Amino acid sequence: MGKDNSDYRELQEKIFIDRKSGWTNQYQGQQEEIFEFAEKYKQFLAQSKTERLCVKNIVKILEKNEFEDIDKKNEINQGDKLYQIFRNKSILAVRVGEKPDQLRIVGSHVDSPRLDLKPNPVYEDSELALFKGHYYGGLKKYHLMNTPLAIHGVVMTKSNGKIEISLGEGEDEPGFIIPDLLIHLSKDRMKKSAKKVVKGEELNILVGHIPIDEENIEEKVKFALLKYLHQEYGIIEEDFNSAELKFVPAEQPRDIGFDRGLISGYGQDDRISVYTSLKAICNSGNTKETAIAFFTDKEETGSHGDTGAKSFLLQNFIRNYISKIGQELEYEELLEDALSISADVTSGLNPNFKEVHEKENAIHLGRGVSIQKYGGSGGKYSTHDAHAEYMAYMRRIANENNIPWQTGELGKIDKGGGGSIGMFLSRYGMNCIDIGPAVLGMHSPSEISSKLDLFAAYKFYKAFYEDNKYPKF
Ligand code: MN
Ligand code: MN
Repeated sequence: MGKDNSDYRELQEKIFIDRKSGWTNQYQGQQEEIFEFAEKYKQFLAQSKTERLCVKNIVKILEKNEFEDIDKKNEINQGDKLYQIFRNKSILAVRVGEKPDQLRIVGSHVDSPRLDLKPNPVYEDSELALFKGHYYGGLKKYHLMNTPLAIHGVVMTKSNGKIEISLGEGEDEPGFIIPDLLIHLSKDRMKKSAKKVVKGEELNILVGHIPIDEENIEEKVKFALLKYLHQEYGIIEEDFNSAELKFVPAEQPRDIGFDRGLISGYGQDDRISVYTSLKAICNSGNTKETAIAFFTDKEETGSHGDTGAKSFLLQNFIRNYISKIGQELEYEELLEDALSISADVTSGLNPNFKEVHEKENAIHLGRGVSIQKYGGSGGKYSTHDAHAEYMAYMRRIANENNIPWQTGELGKIDKGGGGSIGMFLSRYGMNCIDIGPAVLGMHSPSEISSKLDLFAAYKFYKAFYEDNKYPKF
């Protein structure tokens, strides 16, 4: 004879994984605090649509929290709060702990897929002025059609030095757009695969319409546009050769659903991790180990380049840090012994496309932060696979702090894949693991996140910085 049913039910509760919505479990009754946090996040998201703007807003928040530029200090001590900016596109914040030779690092990325410009972008066609775009990062090019765009960036001008341009976010500001082909004449085009329906060379943005009223000028609309840019900003056409102008969706972050539980917005990959880790380092008390938040650039194109995680920024920073600490330390050892998190988003289960996910390993919006042992694609190519010991350590942090969390995979095996900066952090020999909230519609103009997961990510990074049991594996 078996045991009675209630014994089995008890045993089942003990031995089964049971993941539920954090709204009705760990964070029950905390909606007000979660919503308040989300409001500030939405503001940050709205103002941080490029890597340069994002870095600018990070500095603003750091300075408000009494972090100082490390270059202004000759020596640094326990409790100091510092930052270092790299070419206005990536930034590192540090909070010196009781044990300056032990590091806890959370790395995220400030860049998102977008539309850059070609070096010679300006032209006139069909009595319209246009800019030639060049997309950045992995995106569905058709998402860029018929989507109101804003422009942000810098132009290094011959006569006026550096000019900053930001236009198209405010309701009364002009926007920009790439007009799609009307359905009535799309008979051939509708037969094309989604990958080919918009070609890279078709990403030309409407920027002007009214011609100059002058007989002898050819390209009258282009002339009128350049004349305006010259008057307004002192720009001549050659200045575009030394410019970084980016077009991004003009849509503003907003609540989604009657209950306002979700957020839609451009660039939540990865500014949701940027914001939550930034707030975590700002709000952590005096930490035992040195806390570092690394906000990197160029993740969406493979982390290459002098502002990406694959560069030597982190190691150079640690050398600088050591020299100011005044202790005999080896930077290689510090990096090797560090504990790190690659803070990045993952893909949530989208009810319209469940077939790309495997049920037991899908990440659900609202179930909290996702701790992903590995990413990559195929047979675990191009990823860092965290050690079971380190995964166990992260599990402990989440459970001890009552933080809703889950784990799984991006999607079904061989359906695709994705990377993060995790494999570049782990190159130093440090422990690393991917942790972040899930989003729907990743890399689209309107990525969707859950306010609960946003809050859980913040709580998790903060608990990681503040954890006082430095594990030795
Ligand atoms: Mn990302
Ligand atoms: Mn991405």
